[in-house]
Amino acid sequence: METHLPKNLFGLTLPQLKAEVLALGLPAFTASQLADWMYKKRVTDIGSMTNLSKQAREKLQQAYSLHLVPSVSVQTSTDGTKKYLYPTRPQKFIEAAYIPDKDRATLCVSTQIGCKMGCLFCMTGKQGFQGNLTTGEILNQMQSLPEFDKLTNIVYMGMGEPLDNVQAVMDSIEVMTSPWGYDWSPKRITVSTIGIIPAMMTFLENSKAHLAVSLHSPFDDERRDIMPIQSVYPITEVVSNIRRWELGSQRRVSFEYIMFKGVNDTPRHANELVRLLNGIKCRINLIRFHPIPDTPLEGTALEDIVDFQNRLKAKGLTVTIRASRGEDIFAACGMLSTKELIKKQT
Ligand code: SF4
Repeated sequence: METHLPKNLFGLTLPQLKAEVLALGLPAFTASQLADWMYKKRVTDIGSMTNLSKQAREKLQQAYSLHLVPSVSVQTSTDGTKKYLYPTRPQKFIEAAYIPDKDRATLCVSTQIGCKMGCLFCMTGKQGFQGNLTTGEILNQMQSLPEFDKLTNIVYMGMGEPLDNVQAVMDSIEVMTSPWGYDWSPKRITVSTIGIIPAMMTFLENSKAHLAVSLHSPFDDERRDIMPIQSVYPITEVVSNIRRWELGSQRRVSFEYIMFKGVNDTPRHANELVRLLNGIKCRINLIRFHPIPDTPLEGTALEDIVDFQNRLKAKGLTVTIRASRGEDIFAACGMLSTKELIKKQT
């Protein structure tokens, strides 16, 4: 049976905190003090918030909880990537991947428990959907990370389709980038999407973070075979919306392209990709496919990926082959899943 804990203050934005403290009859500035303690000083014990009046502390303690949830396990790859497992609701878990590199350290965060989008190549998709994360549950992956102070970048590329949980994602970006929050530059944040157009426009209008679109095939029927979302939001419309949007010089858009042997890696695909992305200032990331159980798809060999890259580069596109990280602990792209854990616990 689920127990109903008091509302957790962690993860609320400043305007949301203001609404809560005003409802308790406390002065509005208490909200700024709370944000400062939670997100800057990273203190989660209300009793230790010494610049709040005793009465304010007591009222808050009676009405709310304030806590982070530590990870319950960590697996470390031979390449240094770490996969953290976080409990969320009873018997529900999510994963976050910490990826240290020479001059940067990236955290790949989850936004949903499982995913409803059903992409053929993705372990999370095979898990099905068990719920949206709250803003606090998204930020918890950062703030309870032992390596929090080393982080240089956040990518929303873990479990779930971020823009299928757009409000929580937008609120988490607000906490990360506001002066009262972590005060990060939006240039350190990338949000990935399979192309949910209305939510993508909300994201473009309301943040300055980078956008990464999962493209994977430039052809309508072929993309539909591996990504059911194509029937609702065709990639040509996704791209036209991006083309019409003034991205500015600071903001980057990239197109992610997992390479499947014989499926999307031919010269015909390269030529159509060039045509589709014509005129957009962007980067294409070619990604090696990590074999997952129960899929008919196979990965393209590295030399063929390089050929594909050269074909695109010859047409003037900026193309990189994304280094693969954490494959041995199932932390690489498309490999995150907590399905087995959910099965074991139920
Ligand atoms: Fe969901 Fe992304 Fe996996 Fe598709 S690739 S099933 S959108 S998590």
